[in-house]
Amino acid sequence: MNAPESDIAANLRAVREKIANAAIRAGRAPEDVTLVAVSKTKPVEAVLAALAAGQTVFGENRVQEAAEKFPGLRGSHAFDLHLIGGLQTNKARDAVRLADVIETLDRPRLADALAAAVEKEGRRVSFLIEVNTGGESQKSGVLKDDADAFIADCKGRFGTALKGLMCIPPHGEDPRPHFTWLADRAARHGLGVVSMGMSADYEIAIECGATLVRVGTAIFGGR
Ligand SMILES: *Cc1c(COP(=O)(O)O)cnc(C)c1O
Repeated sequence: MNAPESDIAANLRAVREKIANAAIRAGRAPEDVTLVAVSKTKPVEAVLAALAAGQTVFGENRVQEAAEKFPGLRGSHAFDLHLIGGLQTNKARDAVRLADVIETLDRPRLADALAAAVEKEGRRVSFLIEVNTGGESQKSGVLKDDADAFIADCKGRFGTALKGLMCIPPHGEDPRPHFTWLADRAARHGLGVVSMGMSADYEIAIECGATLVRVGTAIFGGR
């Protein structure tokens, strides 16, 4: 169900307040946590309602859907678009054209394609490495055992455009060990951005060190 516009504004206020409270509980500054409003499957009117309510960071899963919704808003609104869905190599160029942050860098061939796309497009894009912390075969993300080598490889390729790590813990499991592992690994590599936590668990993620939370349903309603 799509939430009406007034609900989107109220939902955003409620989520922002929970974020601030979770940060304070964890002894952190509320400004340390950025809210990514995940607008996948929702119409552009929902994005406009969120923009009107002061939201400036959005997340989309699919390149095609992002291409239909966001470029037309660039002229009239300032925002950052994050791509948070598994990315095919042949979509790398479109992704670099559209996104400000690509959160799902997870394999050398994709890194090659994205590096080439950045070169061609001349756009400044930031990257996060997605880690498949649960080792789930159906999920994208680099495996934990391969993470250190891949992080080092991507630092070499992308330099300071590599900002941090992202994960989606297995459904129905306690997310804490996954969140803690990710925050710790980012710190060890000197990476400042830790993207973790969705509608069901963003407060826990903040307590475990998230600096980016990706929230869809709690803002825009169910899908
Ligand atoms: C859909 C999605 C979200 C948001 O999920 P909600 O449960 O609706 O908050 C966050 N991250 C990723 C990668 C997603 O695909």
